[in-house]
Amino acid sequence: MTHPRGVAILGSTGSVGTTALRVLARQRAGFQVRALTAFSNAPLLRAQTAEHSPTFVGLVQASAAADASWSTGAECLVAAATRDDVQTVINAVVGAAGMRATLAALHAGKRVALANKETLVMAGALVTAAAREGGGELVPVDSEHSAILQCIAGRPMGEVRRLIITASGGPFRTWDTARVQAAAVGDALKHPTWSMGRKITIDSATLANKALEVIEAHHLFGIPYDRIDVVVHPQSVVHSFVEFVDGSVLAQLGVPSMELPVLYALTHPDRIPDSGVPAFDPVALSPLTYEPVRHDAFPALGLGIAAGKRGGAAPAVFNAANEEAVAMFLAGAISFGDIARAIGGALDAVGDLAGETLEALVAADASARAHVREFA
Ligand code: NAD
Ligand code: MG
Repeated sequence: MTHPRGVAILGSTGSVGTTALRVLARQRAGFQVRALTAFSNAPLLRAQTAEHSPTFVGLVQASAAADASWSTGAECLVAAATRDDVQTVINAVVGAAGMRATLAALHAGKRVALANKETLVMAGALVTAAAREGGGELVPVDSEHSAILQCIAGRPMGEVRRLIITASGGPFRTWDTARVQAAAVGDALKHPTWSMGRKITIDSATLANKALEVIEAHHLFGIPYDRIDVVVHPQSVVHSFVEFVDGSVLAQLGVPSMELPVLYALTHPDRIPDSGVPAFDPVALSPLTYEPVRHDAFPALGLGIAAGKRGGAAPAVFNAANEEAVAMFLAGAISFGDIARAIGGALDAVGDLAGETLEALVAADASARAHVREFA
């Protein structure tokens, strides 16, 4: 690695974005923040700019609180992601809005440290092709995928038999199925082990997040769906397992903090000294337990995995329907149980649309959202 490396953070005001800036504030010798973008939080963006002095600042929603020197509009994401003074792009935007910047950065040969998993779910084949063609590199920020990458440690995929992705189970892990259906917004926003943005917190409660992660793993590691399993692990200490062809299993463990996978995405395959998170204490973190997924209570997981296997536009439809349904649940327009019903309805109606081009996927995304709005 040549140092310092220029870093762009897309979505710098969010949960992952602010976590990344905390890590980067400790690692100024190796990395320089050169570009920041946010959706609408101008005051926080201004404070981040004062601390990190980026050469480019973008705010999607122009407002009176924006600085005159900032770029505005949705185009600022691609502009930030493709700058000559940026080598690594941390994509911490939530949802399909992060798509074009991921593609543009990979085409421009950048490393993309990807938190924005929706990008890979919507257009996995296009994203991996963009990396191949442009010489860019895709490195996961998602803790489970960071764990898998660390366990594989450069060994050929032919030596990997199976991935076992861990799931916390969310706040409703022990609730009976009928009670889960009618869960309130406030309950769904109380994640037991991780503090995250609202959308992914709801995804963790429905287990739609785990479906997104299975599809993400399929594309990142090029492994068929029938060799990816999910297990519930309420403590979120084992971040995932890799089983090798000889039967040996490796796991990556750590305290549940996104600072570790963010730092590893910046330095992979190297490791650099850092002491931002509390030391690992196996006794304090014990016991570690595992349970099977309750598919009856959390049907979104099965719907998402089936959409991944179906291919074409189905994963994009799953993702868009989920995004729309989560927004409607948060707005009080539909029930918790309706989220999975709306996703299922959209997949039945438009899951077979074409998905070969970005235009087709964007159209499928729009159809799925329209279908979910009609559902309500
Ligand atoms: P968040 O809501 O806290 O932050 C989202 C960020 O994206 C904000 O900075 C916001 O300004 C920006 N943004 C939102 N809509 C935008 C748009 N239309 N255009 C441009 N920018 C926009 O979300 P988060 O929890 O930080 O999650 C970000 C991504 O990381 C998601 O894809 C999520 O699934 C993934 N992720 C998050 C965590 C976590 O711990 N929070 C862990 C793993 C993966
Ligand atoms: Mg995750």
